[in-house]
Amino acid sequence: MTAQIINGKEIAEKKRLEIAKEVERLKELGVTPGLAVILVGNNHASRTYVNNKEKACKELGMNSLLIEMQEEVSEEELLAKINELNENPEIHGILVQLPLPKHIEEKKVIESISPSKDVDGFHPINIGRMMTGQDAFLPCTPYGIMVLLEETGISVAGKHVVVVGRSNIVGKPVGQLFLNQDATVTYCHSKTKDLRFHTNQADILIAAVGIPNFIKEEHVKDGAVIIDVGINRNENGKLCGDVAFDEVVEKAGFITPVPKGVGPMTITMLMYNTAKSAAWSLDRN
Ligand code: NDP
Repeated sequence: MTAQIINGKEIAEKKRLEIAKEVERLKELGVTPGLAVILVGNNHASRTYVNNKEKACKELGMNSLLIEMQEEVSEEELLAKINELNENPEIHGILVQLPLPKHIEEKKVIESISPSKDVDGFHPINIGRMMTGQDAFLPCTPYGIMVLLEETGISVAGKHVVVVGRSNIVGKPVGQLFLNQDATVTYCHSKTKDLRFHTNQADILIAAVGIPNFIKEEHVKDGAVIIDVGINRNENGKLCGDVAFDEVVEKAGFITPVPKGVGPMTITMLMYNTAKSAAWSLDRN
């Protein structure tokens, strides 16, 4: 069996057309969605991510505000800037690009963003709302994964989903979103014993580990749906996921490639959340 490829790029483009229409509608009502991105320091990868976010905003007709701060900026100054953006009615989404320099406490920064502008969905209030099944900003990568499945027509209810990885930004929330949709969820992590036993039970297997080619053919049940979240570089410097694609593609039912799988969905859902925040701001006024 050769798996069907889930084309994240195509699905992201389709979603972006829908978001562009929503932006148009909001503009007619007098609101242009605005996203503020704060970049601290000069991390090369962070700068690339931030540039891509700005580009996506422009393409969709949204406003974007890039705030660059020196690596040495004090935590106090950063918090003051976030507070200013919290009060700015033209800004509907605030994102602080992670990681932050060591002298700044990440948790404090995340919690200083108003939950109503937390379009990354990292604030504990949004996480709590997500866990209790209330309307919330859902974290962008997990949300993007759910949209990929929905658009591919893969049902979730009653399926056994195995998530490898338990980070706060991917593993934990994606498992919760599957649970919210009536899946049975197993989490695996670095202390899990007999990983292969667990992954072989998966109807849907999520790999969010950060190790190139970590999930191999032996980890996968025949016909399973494989979602590869990993963005890694292999020994030749080539972009690759957490799944050994060439061997797993022969056994799985569906698989996301890297690149053009989960990656394009993350920024798309960020744009979606920003437009949603702008729509909520209208409802509040
Ligand atoms: P983290 O490093 O925060 O988490 C990695 C997780 O993998 C941890 O929970 C860790 O377990 C687990 N793990 C590590 N080694 C093993 C092992 N041998 N067996 C089982 N589990 C293991 O990574 P992130 O969640 O932030 O990211 C994961 C990957 O996804 C990365 O490649 C990252 O670049 C990519 N990514 C892609 C995005 C996209 O838009 N496509 C967005 C975000 C991330 P433990 O908790 O026990 O340490």
